[in-house]
Amino acid sequence: MLAAHPRPGITRDNAFFWEGLRLGELRIQRCKACRQLRHPPGPMCPGCHATDWDFVRSRGRGTIHSFVVAEHPQVPPFEYPNVIVLVELGEGTRLVSRLAGSDPESVAIGQPVAVEFETVDDDLSLHLFRRLEA
Ligand code: ZN
Repeated sequence: MLAAHPRPGITRDNAFFWEGLRLGELRIQRCKACRQLRHPPGPMCPGCHATDWDFVRSRGRGTIHSFVVAEHPQVPPFEYPNVIVLVELGEGTRLVSRLAGSDPESVAIGQPVAVEFETVDDDLSLHLFRRLEA
């Protein structure tokens, strides 16, 4: 039996992000006052403290800013070794994700990646990244 996938904590401030994933969009929150992009989503702009925001759709391309190869403890339903990446998107924000289809030995900082989407069930889709040919 497959273990249930852990559920993200969905709030008023990040619902747009998870909704975007279900639609195959990677969304980035944007301050309506100063236009600064930010991630993870929050109620207030760290730059100008405005609370009005909307979002933009990321092009879904970036580079590996940092990564870690998780081997223990092995928590279902994830596959191991599980390569966790901190991706710096072309838009400038960073997000933590999972690297698909990779030989962990060959992962390196600076490699270009592109987003993909994985449907877990009717209510949950996740983002993951895959390396592009350099
Ligand atoms: Zn702002």
